[in-house]
Amino acid sequence: MIQEEIRRITEQLPAGVRLVAISKYHPAEAIREAYAAGQRLFGESHAQEIQQKHTALADLAGLEWHFIGHLQTNKVKYIAPYVNLVHSADSPRLLAEINKQALKAGRTIRCLLQLHVAAEETKFGFTPDEAMAYLDSGAWRELEGVELAGVMAMATNTDDTARIRQDFHTARQFFERARRSLSNAPHASFTELSMGMSDDWHIAIDEGATLIRIGTQIFGERQY
Ligand SMILES: *Cc1c(COP(=O)(O)O)cnc(C)c1O
Repeated sequence: MIQEEIRRITEQLPAGVRLVAISKYHPAEAIREAYAAGQRLFGESHAQEIQQKHTALADLAGLEWHFIGHLQTNKVKYIAPYVNLVHSADSPRLLAEINKQALKAGRTIRCLLQLHVAAEETKFGFTPDEAMAYLDSGAWRELEGVELAGVMAMATNTDDTARIRQDFHTARQFFERARRSLSNAPHASFTELSMGMSDDWHIAIDEGATLIRIGTQIFGERQY
């Protein structure tokens, strides 16, 4: 039951931690159900799918759209007019394009730097060193349409909870370091640490998450 799961999870959240319901591959009707239980933050990972749902659910006041998947630069323009938070800003080039499309839409778009801390190889995300080099470069200061709002990370896909905790801890350490280096910087609030999914969100909260991203536990197995 979608509504029961939302309640079960939100009851356990400490102050300062918010739930992003990951609705990818579930129909718009599932989002309506979650909304009826009070859920307002929804995350999607494909530009076309978020676009369709945004249109289908335009009547739901106060709903926030978060983008969590790899975002191709040529798709940014479709979501720039309404997306509330991009968790997956994974390259300087993508941030530059988000800036361009945000300015075109007359908005500022909040973005999280996607940090690669897991053991798996991936093409996406900044290593902590790359992310720090990007911040030190100051290139982001020119991106008036982007508000750097924090960090997103995924832990290694493993049953080894010590490894998961270590990955989240690495992300937290980067987050704290970056936040200190950005204090008083323009358009950089750096308040959000997005980490934790269905199988590891309790550990993520222990390690300082402010946003947790839960799909399967709420909506069940993905439907298409
Ligand atoms: C799909 C996805 C989630 C949700 O995963 P579940 O295991 O279904 O909770 C969270 N974060 C990202 C980046 C995802 O792609």
